[in-house]
Amino acid sequence: MRDSFDIKKWIENPDELLLIAGPCSVESKEQFFDVATKLSELQEVKILRGGIWKPRTRPNGFEGIGEEGLKWMREISDETNLPIMTEVATPEHAELALKYGVDALWIGARTTANPFSMQQLADTLKGVDIPVFVKNPIAPDLKLWIGAFERLASSGLTHLVAIHRGFQDTNAAPYRNNPRWEIPIELHRKNPNIPIITDISHICGCREILKSTAQKALDLVTNGLMIESHCNPSCALSDARQQLTPSELKDLLYYQISVRDNDSDAKDWKDNIDQLRAKIDIIDESLLYTLASRMKVSRQIGEYKKSHNVA
Ligand code: PEP
Ligand code: MN
Repeated sequence: MRDSFDIKKWIENPDELLLIAGPCSVESKEQFFDVATKLSELQEVKILRGGIWKPRTRPNGFEGIGEEGLKWMREISDETNLPIMTEVATPEHAELALKYGVDALWIGARTTANPFSMQQLADTLKGVDIPVFVKNPIAPDLKLWIGAFERLASSGLTHLVAIHRGFQDTNAAPYRNNPRWEIPIELHRKNPNIPIITDISHICGCREILKSTAQKALDLVTNGLMIESHCNPSCALSDARQQLTPSELKDLLYYQISVRDNDSDAKDWKDNIDQLRAKIDIIDESLLYTLASRMKVSRQIGEYKKSHNVA
């Protein structure tokens, strides 16, 4: 049995790196127990994730196992003492997750993007102080992300965490979702009390770049990582290309990335060189926007002169 991990305490003081791992989807009892048991043996894994309802782009794919999977999650959590979390998109999902004593909820990128859904969830969770992890919306819209936190906070939820999972972008390559690191950095600047978890699996979309992306997150802006894990990734019913086996996950943690030492530079990412560079990127972007606006007005002047015969 593992030592208990108190998610609320961590949110209040996120000094240690938080690792959330588990399969994209809970597929069957056997699949889930297999991966969960192996992950529970890794002391670094503090929360077990599992998708019960899956938002799929097109219908008729695997849309999640539903309520039955919550029973398996509850069972494995009782056996291992590993806290569990799942994605909720509707009031019904949230009520079922609460019924099975899920320890934390996460809100998916498609749901954060919809203020109506966010408000319904916030209304459902009124008076239930469960930790809620909010993924960034699909589009690079910081205000929409912050709005989701505001809706939950207005319902009295006090333990909120951000999950950075990248942004849809036709130029995202080599990533599945463009990380746009300046956006979580800006979120941290505006709301320093909201810890940030980096979901490298959904940023990368493939295993090959997980390591460099994890390292970048650790150097730039993160309080923890979310990593999808499956015992047989190529057969996974969702996100097959991006999941790691528990032993690959262990390798990544122990041999491939370096976590800043807690006593010395632990908080260093808040002002290190990479982060300063990302800040420059944000300024450059607004400079480009200003220049483009200027060019637009000077083009209008040209058109005005032409139509009024002004030299
Ligand atoms: C997931 O975590 O499996 C998921 C569907 O994530 P996102 O909302 O980031 O696409
Ligand atoms: Mn997934």
